[in-house]
Amino acid sequence: MTTATFMVSAIPPSELERIRARGADDLDNPLIPGVVQDGEKPPLRCCLREALPGERVVLISYRPPHPGGPYAEVGPVFVHADRCEGFSPHSGYPAGFRHRRQLLRAYGRGGEQVHNQIVEPADVDAVLAQLLSRPEVEIVHSRNVLAGCYMFAINRASSVEVSDPVEVGNPVS
Ligand SMILES: [Zn+2]
Repeated sequence: MTTATFMVSAIPPSELERIRARGADDLDNPLIPGVVQDGEKPPLRCCLREALPGERVVLISYRPPHPGGPYAEVGPVFVHADRCEGFSPHSGYPAGFRHRRQLLRAYGRGGEQVHNQIVEPADVDAVLAQLLSRPEVEIVHSRNVLAGCYMFAINRASSVEVSDPVEVGNPVS
């Protein structure tokens, strides 16, 4: 059975629902939705694809998953203004972002940066596999090359269960 060697995390839908319901992000910035215009392609951190003209999006401040410590950052991210499909963590590398050059930033257990590399689209799977094979790497962020803004997080897929028929329908409490 084929399993991805890594797991990709978008912003959890439950967090987005909480922020949308509150009408403000976690830094108390009020949500001000806008409509995507022709020629704009804001990258959505909820669905991990670029937004299409006519979609309603909003820019929020967000603290991405990180081991903690002084290197943790909060930064601006676009998300859908309304409830959306989101992204399954087991979908592999996001197809909607695969054409983009990205900065891959690996963090260690103490949250320190252990590696930064700008990666071409064709190389991203190999570089991710190599980074996640390093025991000192705890988590990897994909970030925008110029602005450095957070896009999504990548973890090892070792905790992903290889689906086994035995589990299905097991009536445990
Ligand atoms: Zn979305």
